[in-house]
Amino acid sequence: MNPAQLDGSQAGATSPSIVARPDHNISRANISRNALKVLYRLREGGFQAFLVGGSVRDLLLGVTPKDFDIATDAHPEQVAELFRNCRLIGRRFRLAHVRFGREIIEVATFRAGGDEAHDDRVQDDAGRILRDNVYGSIDEDVWRRDFTSNALYYNIADFSIWDFTGGFQDVHDRVLRLIGDPETRYREDPVRMLRAIRFAAKLGFSIAPDSAAPIARLAPLLAEVPPARLFDEMLKLFQGGHGLRVYELLVQYGLFGQLFPHTHASLSGPHGDALEKLLRLALANTDARVAEDKPVTPTFLLAVLLWGPIRERAALLLEEGGSDADALAGGTTEVVLEQLERVTIPRRFSGPLREMLALQPRFSQRRGVRAMRLLEHKRFRAAYDFLVLRAECGEVDPDLVEWWTAVQDMDSETRRKEMGLRRSSGKSGDSRRPRSRRRSRAD
Ligand code: ATP
Ligand code: MG
Repeated sequence: MNPAQLDGSQAGATSPSIVARPDHNISRANISRNALKVLYRLREGGFQAFLVGGSVRDLLLGVTPKDFDIATDAHPEQVAELFRNCRLIGRRFRLAHVRFGREIIEVATFRAGGDEAHDDRVQDDAGRILRDNVYGSIDEDVWRRDFTSNALYYNIADFSIWDFTGGFQDVHDRVLRLIGDPETRYREDPVRMLRAIRFAAKLGFSIAPDSAAPIARLAPLLAEVPPARLFDEMLKLFQGGHGLRVYELLVQYGLFGQLFPHTHASLSGPHGDALEKLLRLALANTDARVAEDKPVTPTFLLAVLLWGPIRERAALLLEEGGSDADALAGGTTEVVLEQLERVTIPRRFSGPLREMLALQPRFSQRRGVRAMRLLEHKRFRAAYDFLVLRAECGEVDPDLVEWWTAVQDMDSETRRKEMGLRRSSGKSGDSRRPRSRRRSRAD
């Protein structure tokens, strides 16, 4: 291996260290055919064309890239002229999407913006970048990227890798290193702190000491990030297949409390240990599902992440009277509302979340029509999965879970018998409908 030895602190260096084809392991056989098509056509059109970002990093690591992004000196309109299957997207910064069936290859024009001289770049008082839309050359494009390992360019002209920042060596050493001065880069975009955690967890990289050091101190900057962006980032963090490790690192770096302040508080409350167990079990579970390519839902993830504060809030509401279900629904509404100040929770998730949590108390009722109806409820599956999780943490009697597990596999007559219902006579003949037991008011 002939690593590029450039110091990441040399922001502004304009000549890359070039790793020739024989000195790296990226083979075109591992690059998507469609990405290759785009790269070659750009080149035939007289433009520079590079594979860039996560795909180069992943290929060097022998990992299958999620997607293939391309960087070029062609302007978006010029890209569009080369491809019929191309759409220009984005108002703030225009990108070309070249579509091949289900695969979209994103083609971005080199961007400048690494130095303050450009008046098209707008920063707020805290140094956060609000707008940077100036086209540039590759040696400008590189400095606005986040980590050295994300700033490698694979050149389709001769299959070499262009390395301006020492990223090649860092990938080899499995180190995540911010390009330039870490504090400045985190202030420009605080989400980079979360990205550091995400990549460290996903790739098993360590975070370089000078890139790690400012995180705990700068963590409060996340409060200034739009909650909708944090929701997207949160899903990537926890549903990327390494959620448990992400959680540990977020806690370690003081970031978890910035995203989920109420959950963070619950973790040091009276039920803190049980909550910690629930979080860990659920995240390990989600990671296993992702590894098996099974679907994972944001609703379940939110239930897990917000269960601590919701449970506490529900207990308070219960003291004011009403049913367990009402208290849980009300607690969910309140906690979600407060959580929205940090991380957006779209209604399409908060509605189902409230429903699945409000069903929790109903599992204790095994007999009668209400038990049967619970089984048929559209949120039964999610609520049942959550019940299983709670039982694993000692919050719920394991017998109860066993019963609800067994009852799902019974034929309908056995099930009716088990629930104390009469044999079905064709129509709805449930004469043994139990009187709804109202919880006595506590006040
Ligand atoms: P993944 O495997 O998760 O897709 P990725 O490295 O491709 O990882 P993306 O979020 O797809 O990450 O971004 C593509 C590239 O854009 C990154 O590799 C990085 O060079 C650059 N980038 C993305 N977000 C930022 C950011 N917040 N600050 C600086 N550069 C960024
Ligand atoms: Mg990517």
